[in-house]
Amino acid sequence: MLLGDWERIFKTAYNRSMKKIYGIIGDPVAHSLSPVMHNAAFKKLGMDAIYLAFRVSPEEVGDAIRGAKSLGIAGLNVTIPLKEKALSFVDAEEVAKKIGAVNTIDFSSGTPAGYNTDGIGSLRILKEVVGEINGKNVLILGAGGAAKAISFYLDAEGARVTIANRTREKAAQLVSKLRNADFISLGVELEKRIEDSNILINATSVGMHPNEDATLVNAYLMHPDLVVFDIVYNPLETKLLREAKRAGVKKIVDGVKMLVYQGAASFKIWTKKEPPIETMENAVRDALSHGSS
Ligand code: NAP
Repeated sequence: MLLGDWERIFKTAYNRSMKKIYGIIGDPVAHSLSPVMHNAAFKKLGMDAIYLAFRVSPEEVGDAIRGAKSLGIAGLNVTIPLKEKALSFVDAEEVAKKIGAVNTIDFSSGTPAGYNTDGIGSLRILKEVVGEINGKNVLILGAGGAAKAISFYLDAEGARVTIANRTREKAAQLVSKLRNADFISLGVELEKRIEDSNILINATSVGMHPNEDATLVNAYLMHPDLVVFDIVYNPLETKLLREAKRAGVKKIVDGVKMLVYQGAASFKIWTKKEPPIETMENAVRDALSHGSS
């Protein structure tokens, strides 16, 4: 073998070892849009990095986090059903502890550091659309992981939050951790409360593929000045958002921006670089229009 060949092999190996690896752990995870979104960002910024999806069961989450650290993986996202369990294996920021879940792990400081960027993403998009959040009446449908993250951020921002959830105990439990919030049922109470609301957020999985004709709120309950935000992004236009259009609602927000902004916040934690938001959003919308979920 010639010297040039060895040099090429060495350089390839060296370059490989320098490539930063990021990823997402969850189950199911194969259809996650995070790899498409982050790899587009790395390419745009000319970074030598790759983002991969790893299927991990709840029993293996601790091993996966410890293993990722040993292998030199630079950062991880965590998705369902691991967000709550992952909290026990990281040094978590205060807000993630309050929410009870992490969606981002950074390995740069030795100890795995845990963050929750879901709430940051929803707050950022709402501020863009609504402006001031302080004093707004926000009705959140759902009391699961996403609803928790969103409500903590809106509550801290001074919104008056109402939680409407199918399982009342879960709504009561969430409200007990917020400063200025109450809860109602999904029945007749909901009709009355929408009248007085400035912002309606669907943070349940209702309307998500394959149940695309499901919605908890129909057009006749909405008023044109209500801001309607559905965090479900598959399909892009959910039944709730179609109903909002029918009701003449002027400000309608789909779930893609929240996905992009939570991803952008993770990207910044890991890389300390300004994320290329437009590139990330285009990559997600493109993948969704070609049938990814
Ligand atoms: P989760 O923790 O499993 O919570 C699911 C919530 O939906 C619960 O409040 C549940 O009510 C409610 N729900 C489910 N089926 C229902 C039905 N038939 N009728 C009424 N309520 C129902 O899930 P999650 O992590 O919060 O995610 C919720 C949705 O948000 C998913 O579709 C997810 O893909 C989406 N999401 C989007 C983003 C984004 O960036 N855009 C981020 C996170 C999540 P009970 O308490 O009664 O079970």
